[in-house]
Amino acid sequence: MVARFRRMEGRPVFFCTGTDEHSQNVEKAAAKVELATKAFCDRMAEDIRNTFDKMEITYDRFIRTSDPDHEKVCQFLIEKAFQAGDVYKKKYEGLYCESCETFYTEKESVTGSKGLECPTHKVPLKKVEEENYFFRLSKFENQLKDYFLSKPEFLNPDFRRNEIVSFVNQGLRDFSVSRTGFKWGIPLPFDPEHVIYVWYDALINYLTAVKFPAPGNPNADAEFFKKFWPCDVHVVGKDITRFHAVYWPAMLWSAGIELPKTVFAHGHLMLNGEKMSKTRGNIVTPDEVMTDFGTNALRWYVISANSFSGDGNYSDQDIVLKCNADLSNNIGNLVNRVVTMAYKHFGESSPHNQNKLPDGIQNIASRFEQSFGAGAVKLREAIDSMDLMGYCSRVTEFSGSLNKFMDETKPWSQAKVVQKPEATDLDRAVFQSTLAQLLEGIRNLGIALWPVIPSASEAILAQLGVTALAVSADFDAVKLHSGKVITVPLFSKLSFDAAREFKLSPPKPLFPRLEIKE
Ligand SMILES: [Zn+2]
Repeated sequence: MVARFRRMEGRPVFFCTGTDEHSQNVEKAAAKVELATKAFCDRMAEDIRNTFDKMEITYDRFIRTSDPDHEKVCQFLIEKAFQAGDVYKKKYEGLYCESCETFYTEKESVTGSKGLECPTHKVPLKKVEEENYFFRLSKFENQLKDYFLSKPEFLNPDFRRNEIVSFVNQGLRDFSVSRTGFKWGIPLPFDPEHVIYVWYDALINYLTAVKFPAPGNPNADAEFFKKFWPCDVHVVGKDITRFHAVYWPAMLWSAGIELPKTVFAHGHLMLNGEKMSKTRGNIVTPDEVMTDFGTNALRWYVISANSFSGDGNYSDQDIVLKCNADLSNNIGNLVNRVVTMAYKHFGESSPHNQNKLPDGIQNIASRFEQSFGAGAVKLREAIDSMDLMGYCSRVTEFSGSLNKFMDETKPWSQAKVVQKPEATDLDRAVFQSTLAQLLEGIRNLGIALWPVIPSASEAILAQLGVTALAVSADFDAVKLHSGKVITVPLFSKLSFDAAREFKLSPPKPLFPRLEIKE
């Protein structure tokens, strides 16, 4: 949604997502289904890409940490840290969670029935002794403290920042960056018996994706890198905030690379009020939801009904209620009623707005300003602060105010008046103005919906004759770095144009009412 919105603003966007593939657990999972690890990951990445495509996610690069360019960038950076003395070898004994593949201190662990357990997985922690390479995180403790003081905007939301600051204040321990005993990873360039372990591999994807000019990187492009780095935001799950807000800055400082401008930690979706868990069978996939309710419903529900910074919830009941209320009753009904009436009375041609409304009615230009602000600034502010739910509330509020406008102006009664022989020019002007303003309101509603539910937005705009083909001034063709070309309605057209003309097409119902399937 954010990437789409930024593209509407005409900004250069690079949106990276992908799969973190290296780990002993992945190797084990592949062995279990008797597949080569690479083949197993190929299948996994393919599945996720297909799902993302179905979800209309406009990524520029789907990076896999097993990609060859990524290997070069990781090896270069860890070598650099090694040369700088920030990576060193030591023997280590600690409490290890095999699911997290992370060491915990006694203090961080929780006490369960069988002794100390992983705070996340609630499984017994194993005492493990290993000789590994470590990254000197402790060296960067004060620099991190200062950074959070001088640049609080680096990590959002606030309550996550507070958690991280208190974590840093407890003192930082060096973390291990290599493992032995399995092969599925990037070999350490200075000790190939070891593979690079999780964070010195996964986090670096952000640099690889924007063509970091490491020696031997087949995709190196210094100019491209300069254009997109430092990036505006890393959007990460709350469970990996620490790695992005503590480990990653220190790794970048060690390499002399600028930090990303911000990190935003989002919450998790629960299912029927409980944590999703494959082992407990409490799980629903985006594909299942799209099969039952469609892509628009999935996107609308996840974005509009759940705060992005906190945890959210999914249930079949909730998605049905929310989408029927917002999409079918509020937005869909409005569009269908207005387009049906306008098409019936004016055909393809457009009613003209003469700014003549019944007495005492607030026009739609000022309703637009109330919900979206002048120049739709409130929508931009919602995106700037990652208040995606707030963005959607403004859109439904505006749609609601258009419905109210209809109830107040009663265009169906006006239609009867203008058909009488005694109808005046003023009667006709009022009828045309009412419908023209509604259509212009719906055009704006359609544009505002595009980042959230793009295909529904395009279907709304198409009924008004606003399409990429017919009215190219309303759209931009944007070539994603993946090579795919998408047409993007322009943010600058999100404003009330009193003289706007439309070329209507026959109305098409948009959002069928959802029902729970057994
Ligand atoms: Zn764990």
